[in-house]
Amino acid sequence: MAFVLEQFVASPTVGQLDCCRKVDLRLVADHYHVSVSSALVKSELKATLITGLVEQGVLRRPTLVESPGTMVQSATEQANIFTTPQFDSVSAGSSPTGSKLDARVKVRMAILQCEREEREREFQLRRELEIRKQEQELEIRKQELELEIRKQELELEIRKQELEADTAVRMRQLELQAAVVGDSAVTPSGPAASFDGIIERLNAGEVVIGDGGFVFALEKRGYVMAGPWTPEATVTHPEAVRQLHREFLRAGSNVMQTFTFYASDDKLENRGQSLKIAGTQINEAACDLAREVASEGDAMVAGGVCQTPSYLSCKSEIEVKAIFKKQLEVFLKKNVDFLIAEYFEHVEEAEWAVQVLKASGKPVAACMCIGPDGDMHGVSPGECAVRLVKAGAQIVGINCHFDPETCVKTVKLMKEGVEKAQLKAHYMVQPLAFHTPDCSCQGFIDLREFPFALEPRILTRWDMHAYAREAYKAGIRFIGGCCGFEPYHIRAIAEELTTERRILPPASEKHGMWGSGLEMHTKPWVRARARRDYWEHIAPASGRPKCPSLSTPEGWGVTKGHTELMQQKEATSSQEIKHLMEMQKKAKSSA
Ligand SMILES: [Zn+2]
Repeated sequence: MAFVLEQFVASPTVGQLDCCRKVDLRLVADHYHVSVSSALVKSELKATLITGLVEQGVLRRPTLVESPGTMVQSATEQANIFTTPQFDSVSAGSSPTGSKLDARVKVRMAILQCEREEREREFQLRRELEIRKQEQELEIRKQELELEIRKQELELEIRKQELEADTAVRMRQLELQAAVVGDSAVTPSGPAASFDGIIERLNAGEVVIGDGGFVFALEKRGYVMAGPWTPEATVTHPEAVRQLHREFLRAGSNVMQTFTFYASDDKLENRGQSLKIAGTQINEAACDLAREVASEGDAMVAGGVCQTPSYLSCKSEIEVKAIFKKQLEVFLKKNVDFLIAEYFEHVEEAEWAVQVLKASGKPVAACMCIGPDGDMHGVSPGECAVRLVKAGAQIVGINCHFDPETCVKTVKLMKEGVEKAQLKAHYMVQPLAFHTPDCSCQGFIDLREFPFALEPRILTRWDMHAYAREAYKAGIRFIGGCCGFEPYHIRAIAEELTTERRILPPASEKHGMWGSGLEMHTKPWVRARARRDYWEHIAPASGRPKCPSLSTPEGWGVTKGHTELMQQKEATSSQEIKHLMEMQKKAKSSA
């Protein structure tokens, strides 16, 4: 039945309020000016309203509750009591019905009813909270799953981009290789089809790439002693020699030169070689190592001899030639592909070496270690070359002592001399990997930084590109290196001459022309350096602000025939060192 305010005002009872909706309770409160908060729930609103009506005398407070000893109750508890239906209105003038006991039972029932309703409300509230909590957990899980999916999508995208980048790099490498090999069946990084000898290759116009100097490279690695510079490592540490051969082969070398520099008996004897390993043993081991690695790729084995202490000590032609012959016997026994007589300061001794080697019937190359000023006795490069060709050398050139620029310049002078004499020869160059614009006639030996402080002078790989191009333009077709060269220098030569040689070395798989590998660098400013014009024109700093760029060589002016160059077996005494220091002062003051 709908609540009617007028009926309640006419005859107010708690029972009518029990049937009220919340809005009806507010109507009653407004009518009697009972202040109720809008935040109250219905039961609280009703309790507050009943209390207000009792205070105004509209409803009567039951006598039961007011009896002595009754505990003071809260407004809600009081309201619960008033909600019991047995109370009548004051205005009705009626009194509580039934006995006192009935009234107590009814009050108790009303209290129980209220408690039950309270528990139901609490249960409902807890249930709602639980549902809300579960909804929130579901929402969080949903967001976590969405994040996980997004993360996996991103990872897939990154992997996809990596694969695309890898493919692009590989494609570019293949394009480059295809460009250099054309339709040929030659595998770009594998052995070439040709296994001709050195002369056949040079006659065919092929560019032959040499290796680097083993003495300096292995001294830095701890297998050669600076001073004696002898190659007993072929016996004591064959793995080190083999590995260096392999690295040069991988970098593009076509020539595995036997590590027999200063492996002549006279040199081994007078340089305190305490292990007493025979020269023959060192030479044989060197041949075996060079052959072993050469057979792993497209390379020839060259047996090498060099200038002897015997010549500097003014030994006879027969004695000096006997030393070369002994090494040659090993080279023939081991059947090397050709022979190189290199590192001669005096053309006379070089001629003797060529004459000995030529008798073997193998092709002979001959290199002087001189600059444009000629040999130590002033014989010009052109004349040296002519004499070497006449002695039987089919390839002539320069190695060691000077930088690439000076060596190429000197080979040009040799070529001019040979052509002027209407002779024929092939040309080779194997320079230092050090810049030596300040050297005098004896090259880097006279630099005060020799041999332990030369590093600031080292050529970069990009310098090697320029060197290879200059050598090629000069008509030199056997292009390699000597002291200071590391495999990456040889690789640079091979890369510069890729078009001419139609082949890339295996080591270029880890390089990329002109720094193209930097395209994959982490830092964008380094990626920006992945281009030829950046590296080709770089002027690298030395990082040594207190150092001069050039030094003054010590010009001692002594050579074969001078007392100071007479070779001895014993180490120099402290007395002799004092004498040498005096000479050094004089040499400096005259420089
Ligand atoms: Zn050298």
